[in-house]
Amino acid sequence: MPSKTSLQFETLSVHAGHAIDSGSGDVSPAVHLATTYERAKDGSFAFGYSYIREDNPTRKALESCIAALEGGSAAVAFASGAAASFAVFSLVQPGAHVLAPRESYHGTAKQLSEVLAGYGVGCTFIDMTDIAAVRAAMNPTVKLVWIETPSNPMLNLSDIGAISALAHDHGALVCCDNTFATPVLQRPFELGADIVMHSSTKYFGGHSDAMGGAVVVNDASLEKRLRMYQSTAGGVPAPFDCWLIRRSLATLKLRVQAQSQSALQIANYLATHPRVERVYYPGLASHPGHSLARQQMPHGCGGVLSFGVRGDKKLAFAVAAKLELFTRATSLGGVESLIEHRASIEGPHSVTPQNLLRLSIGLEHVDDLIRDLEQALQA
Ligand SMILES: *Cc1c(COP(=O)(O)O)cnc(C)c1O
Repeated sequence: MPSKTSLQFETLSVHAGHAIDSGSGDVSPAVHLATTYERAKDGSFAFGYSYIREDNPTRKALESCIAALEGGSAAVAFASGAAASFAVFSLVQPGAHVLAPRESYHGTAKQLSEVLAGYGVGCTFIDMTDIAAVRAAMNPTVKLVWIETPSNPMLNLSDIGAISALAHDHGALVCCDNTFATPVLQRPFELGADIVMHSSTKYFGGHSDAMGGAVVVNDASLEKRLRMYQSTAGGVPAPFDCWLIRRSLATLKLRVQAQSQSALQIANYLATHPRVERVYYPGLASHPGHSLARQQMPHGCGGVLSFGVRGDKKLAFAVAAKLELFTRATSLGGVESLIEHRASIEGPHSVTPQNLLRLSIGLEHVDDLIRDLEQALQA
């Protein structure tokens, strides 16, 4: 068997963290539901497991696979993306400061402004797409720079390489939320990030039926701190969710490539539609982040795009109501296409335009999706 580190992404998706069960010959791994493990007469744990929250075989398999796909030394799995982002923030000490994008996932921003602030961790929200703004916000108290690219729901891009170099000059760690791009399309470690965070609920799970999160690192001391937090704070995923997500990772690349190709076709279609005011997708030459996309996401820009209708919130709702193949629901990354009026899910403080609809493109045939949009956009 060749060394695992020399294997290609597709091969790792199938094999990393996956061994034939030596007790049964099972080709598909078992779901290990046990919460506790027998000790030998001498008090030792024969298989290295003692209690489910500390570690368990199903979670370990998932963690090994995520680490391999993201190109990190270890992944630490959590019960949700929110639990994973909070784990990263737990690395920041009181009195220190986090720089985060103004256009952060709303739950991430809320953790910083409403929970971490109470622990004495400061946060400044800036325009991360503007490297001058990042430079201006740097100071010795900044210990963590949070990047989320492409952003949600405007699909703006931040330059992971440039921001990481700047942060490291100032002694700060960089964490990239890679949920939208996935390691299929964007490689934050190769660009300089120290930590990669995922909501596994989205593309990793990929079928809208499992919740999870992960923090990936490339450094043993960061792993040690995160492992301590994982078992102590206890926001760990259940074995069956780990099993579902590990299973879905086998098809991650095929799914994301297909979703990304369809999204580009749909973006091109919408961009010429008379009832569409604007399309937000970095794969379009008209997008302000397009040249950065070509370097940072050379194989595609992902399966999420947004567009503004030529009209108000009422028209946006009317278009969403007419769609038959797109389901009106929040979330993204599943096999089924979804549409969402983002401003109303983000709440009264949302800065998202009221005429904006966000699409998560699934695995349906792109011609069927375009026909559905065509009929829904008819006056
Ligand atoms: C969904 C999401 C999260 C939060 O993840 P949950 O699994 O819902 O807790 C964080 N970041 C991004 C970009 C997301 O899309």
